[in-house]
Amino acid sequence: MPTTDPATEGRGSDATALLRAAALRVTAPRVAVIGVVRDHPHVDAGTVVGTTRERAGWISVQGVYDVLATLTDAGILRRVQPARSPARYEMELGDNHHHLACRTCGGLRDVPCPVGAAPCLAPGEAEGFVVDEAEVVFWGTCARCRDTAPH
Ligand SMILES: [Zn+2]
Ligand SMILES: [Zn+2]
Repeated sequence: MPTTDPATEGRGSDATALLRAAALRVTAPRVAVIGVVRDHPHVDAGTVVGTTRERAGWISVQGVYDVLATLTDAGILRRVQPARSPARYEMELGDNHHHLACRTCGGLRDVPCPVGAAPCLAPGEAEGFVVDEAEVVFWGTCARCRDTAPH
């Protein structure tokens, strides 16, 4: 049996490769969820449920949550949860990027990490605590919401 995959392009084979690299079984729901998150960065779980069903057929809400948890634990997805907002998911790019969060519309945007590797910030006084990551959310108002705000 040849072990090479003729389809090296396309979402499906990418998701398959990610799952294999993480030693996870390749299942249709996992492949579908990876595709949805890749196409919709910072998507919330509810939207993942709806879009996965459109693409791959019926899957239970719990099934989607289980897939999201498995993929996040495996380092394929990154979970971002700004205060007072549902968890959002994006592909884990390993770039330690941060987020701009709009208080008005709840929108999230990526902003590159000025350092590029975690931890990019250090607390003033760590008292023996070993810091391995600083999760930075910049809060404010996005350009679109500033434009539509009453003056
Ligand atoms: Zn906004
Ligand atoms: Zn992001």
